[in-house]
Amino acid sequence: MLVSNRAVREVLGIEPGQVSNRFLGDAGWEVLQGDGSPWPDADWPIHQAVRTGVPVTDVRMGLRRGAVTRWLKVAARPLRRPGDDKPYAALATFTDVTERLAAQVALQESEAHFRLLAENSTDVITRHLADGTCLYASPALRDMLGREPQELEGQQATEFVHVEDRARLISALVALLRSGEVSTVRYRMAHRDGRWVWVETVMRPVRAEGRVLELQSSTRDVTARMESEQRLARLALGDPLTGLANRAALLQHLEDLLDAGQPLALLFLDLDRFKVVNDSLGHSAGDELLRTVAGRLAGTCRDGDVVARLGGDEFVVVAAGLAEEGAVQLAERVQTVLGAPVEVSGHELVVSASVGIVVHDGGATDERDAEALLRDADVSMYRAKAKGRARAVVWSEATGQAPVERLTVEQELRSALECGEITVHYQPQVELSSGRVVGVEALARWTHPRRGLLAPASFLDVADDTGLIVELGRQVLHTAARQVAQWRGLPGCEELALSVNLSSRELLDPGQLEVALDVLRETGLPAGALTLEVLESVLLDAEGAVLRALASYVEHGVRLALDDFGTGSSSLLHLRRVPVASVKIDRAFVLGLGRDRQDEAIVRALCSLTGDLGMSCIAEGVEEDEQRDWLVAQGVLVAQGYLLHRPLPAAALEALLRADVPRAVRG
Ligand code: C2E
Ligand code: MG
Ligand code: MG
Repeated sequence: MLVSNRAVREVLGIEPGQVSNRFLGDAGWEVLQGDGSPWPDADWPIHQAVRTGVPVTDVRMGLRRGAVTRWLKVAARPLRRPGDDKPYAALATFTDVTERLAAQVALQESEAHFRLLAENSTDVITRHLADGTCLYASPALRDMLGREPQELEGQQATEFVHVEDRARLISALVALLRSGEVSTVRYRMAHRDGRWVWVETVMRPVRAEGRVLELQSSTRDVTARMESEQRLARLALGDPLTGLANRAALLQHLEDLLDAGQPLALLFLDLDRFKVVNDSLGHSAGDELLRTVAGRLAGTCRDGDVVARLGGDEFVVVAAGLAEEGAVQLAERVQTVLGAPVEVSGHELVVSASVGIVVHDGGATDERDAEALLRDADVSMYRAKAKGRARAVVWSEATGQAPVERLTVEQELRSALECGEITVHYQPQVELSSGRVVGVEALARWTHPRRGLLAPASFLDVADDTGLIVELGRQVLHTAARQVAQWRGLPGCEELALSVNLSSRELLDPGQLEVALDVLRETGLPAGALTLEVLESVLLDAEGAVLRALASYVEHGVRLALDDFGTGSSSLLHLRRVPVASVKIDRAFVLGLGRDRQDEAIVRALCSLTGDLGMSCIAEGVEEDEQRDWLVAQGVLVAQGYLLHRPLPAAALEALLRADVPRAVRG
């Protein structure tokens, strides 16, 4: 006779209380031994314990009823009455281990399955305890990290992981343990040879009885994928203003070409006088211009060339497979395309660019990387700027040795303005009929402590871009006005006129007019003796502000001349807009006089047009007798040029004025 408790009812469906010896069979349960064979009643642990008097522990017993099998762990302890050696009964406890066994079996099965996969996978398969300790790593580790699996086994999961990535890996582990779901994480691991390998790990927990027993993970090398993803991301991050590639994309492209050993040419462009547009027409006009330039550049290049904007008005073209000759031709093409007038918020502008060119033959002898190429092209571009606008300079060792660094020029120029290193040279304006000097053009010179006497080409752009031009112009005006006022005291020089050059930047400076009037008052030079030379392109830049500034000078009696006339486009249309006294025909047209029919036709037309408008004509850059003769025959009265006089320092000019030698007439 047996007594059972309540748990027996729950597990086996048998009412507690007294049950018969055959209670299991009565309830329909067939009793099995651990190996699954039937278990005769007499051998049951409880009967064994009573019969032998020895406790039975940890015996596995199966109960089967229909399709259901439950496994129990059984322990039986014999019970004795005092003084009686023979047990009268036994106390048996049954623990249901069905779930646990199932999990163990599953684990064994999955382990076998797992090993099979692991040993043959190109991914690195690992097993970890929940605390991160590595139990197993598959042989693919050798290919991925150049390491033996034993190096990892027994170590923490973060071993060999990049310090910056450890926190990420650990929090992924924690999240995985908490949620119990598959999770993926990317991090870097150290290869035996010292490089970092980007890997991606997929981890999944293996659970039993609601507990995470271990983690299984599969890890693969994603370095190549990461790199191409990063490259795509960079390329996608183009320049938002123009849609061209940005600096990062450009560098990537350059590196790719260099890696592939491809020859290439790189053109570094900086727009000339872009600041003027931005300052006088406003930023949205500036942006519009940049977009137009971007479109023109892209349209000029071949498929496969990459055009980028580095920021501001700096553009770069990378042309694969192009050698120096082709690169120079491309630069010329670009210049032509950019030179067509641009309509920007109602204004017609003319754009040019200074271009630095670098060529790389793709060979191993040239070890410059992408950054170095860009830097060399930048240096060449500044060289081009220093030579005057709209030029191109090809990089060579010589270019690189003495880089004209803009920042240096700016700093030096600033101190030059403070230390009085800016001086003025004067080029005579000569009356052709008599050879008399009727006026002088003041031209800025910089007596540089190291580089010697510098012409405006090597510092004017920096001065213009930085605004230092305003101070420079004031110094030039002041020096020249005082000088000319003094020279007007010389016999025969009472009417000597002064021309000074003014950039649009200076014209737009609000204090400039007052300063000029002060200078006139202070030096006693009459306003009518002063001519401001402005580039005709200044008239295109802004009809508002610049024209108003010019008009106010004229109201005070100052005269205006249009400098370098004929070089800007659509200038003729704008001539009527300003009260201009004279135009200076550019050297480019004077060059062909006496030889070139077309140049002659242009100058003839300019002379008659300006004559009709009541302006006078001055010829610039007269270098040869034929040119002078042609001009005289055409009725041009005044000219400047090396044939007549070069620009001279004040002392030399004074000597000339005193000697009063009419050179042009005597030839
Ligand atoms: P620009 O006003 O057209 O001045 C004439 C330039 O032509 C001068 O160059 C002069 O030296 C040069 N030149 C004169 N005759 C001949 C000739 O027969 N043959 C040749 N090949 N060249 C000749 P420079 O002094 O180098 O000045 C260059 C430009 O710099 C000037 O061109 C002017 O636009 C600008 N500049 C000069 N000084 C100042 C200044 O104080 N302020 C401003 N804003 N600009 C200035
Ligand atoms: Mg001039
Ligand atoms: Mg000129």
